[in-house]
Amino acid sequence: MKLWVCAVPLVVLLSALANAASIGQDERVRYDNYSVYKVKYANALQRSVLLQLDEESNDFNLWHEASDQVHVMVSPKAKLEFEARMSQMNASAEVLIENVQSLIQDGSDGALRDSSFGWTSYHTLEKIEAWLDEILASYPEIVTGFLVGQSYEGRDIRGIKISYKSGNPGVFIESNIHAREWITSATATWFINELLTSSDAAVRDLAENHDWYIVPVFNVDGFVYSHVKDRMWRKSRSPSAGSTCIGVDLNRNYDSHWMENGGASDNPCAETYAGLSAFSEPETKALSEYISGIKDKVNVLFAFHSYSQVLLSPYGHTDEEFPDNYDDLLQVAKAYADAVNSLQYGTTYRYGSSAEVLYIASGCTNDWAYVKADIEISYTIEFRDTGHHGFLLPPTHIIPNAEETLAGITALLAESRELGYLELKYDL
Ligand SMILES: [Zn+2]
Repeated sequence: MKLWVCAVPLVVLLSALANAASIGQDERVRYDNYSVYKVKYANALQRSVLLQLDEESNDFNLWHEASDQVHVMVSPKAKLEFEARMSQMNASAEVLIENVQSLIQDGSDGALRDSSFGWTSYHTLEKIEAWLDEILASYPEIVTGFLVGQSYEGRDIRGIKISYKSGNPGVFIESNIHAREWITSATATWFINELLTSSDAAVRDLAENHDWYIVPVFNVDGFVYSHVKDRMWRKSRSPSAGSTCIGVDLNRNYDSHWMENGGASDNPCAETYAGLSAFSEPETKALSEYISGIKDKVNVLFAFHSYSQVLLSPYGHTDEEFPDNYDDLLQVAKAYADAVNSLQYGTTYRYGSSAEVLYIASGCTNDWAYVKADIEISYTIEFRDTGHHGFLLPPTHIIPNAEETLAGITALLAESRELGYLELKYDL
């Protein structure tokens, strides 16, 4: 009898939980049996056919592009056609991820887990902002908050400045401009925590002898959308007149060689849609104005991305021209890559100009910072991995990836200091 009494509420509870779970799942875009293919292409024609797929329909979604290959997610119903087209054009297609949804379900994103703030799972914007508030309250003498501006949907774009003393060179970190690249904000928050709490001498030196301006989640609208609706969302959330497709690739919207040399798309349905004009988007306009206002205080800029394990310096819009200090840019990137490689994980990073190492990409943050804000050490960093999990990097990678970032940035800044790039640009 007693068992029966207990059993009823248990059944009710289980069925309520099941309903809640299925409702939650239904609200989200699902990727059952979507696969990610790595396609090595042999020539420019093949490349353009592959990139065209992304604009063709929702059955194809561009995940990664490099100088010899693309990674593309393909819907189950388009797989046969896709494989036939690849073999027709003699391109080798290899499956990197068999079932995208299984990586999401495996908890590789961990977003739904209700845990306290830490780095064993990925967090929502709400949680990240609550954590930033805690940091601001705990370190009032050292940490100040700043508001970059508002997103298209009216959210605040928040940043924090960490400064232990006056007269420090400045380092700016833009993170999570691409919504689905969750490892970037997870790494940025871990990094903030290390700067404030580590007792390691090298980290203390790093923390106290630089001023840090960090925007952990820049594309706030896209980030929220990637949590509540579509884990694979990349762009912002602004609509385009005359199209049902939503969003602009904010990392193609900066006013630096905007839309030159095919480094972005004018199709609102493309993942690399550059927007109607340079700085057409409130997010990029606000961040560029914020950085312009403090540019004399910023010596180095990093834009955190994933994935592919590369450091990308200017220029993105051309591979025929290089910055005046390109040799120095390579030297500091080598310091980063060597430092990362020397850790126990043995992770390798490649480096070079965006156009040379990956592809032509115009209107990116790091190019704009270099060309228009006189920030001479300006890097896009593409974190782990090289495609095995892609954007769905399991949360067990957060701390290793963040440790690599800390080691890399420490070495890069030391090398930059040696080369004279951390001299103050303003009078004290
Ligand atoms: Zn990115």
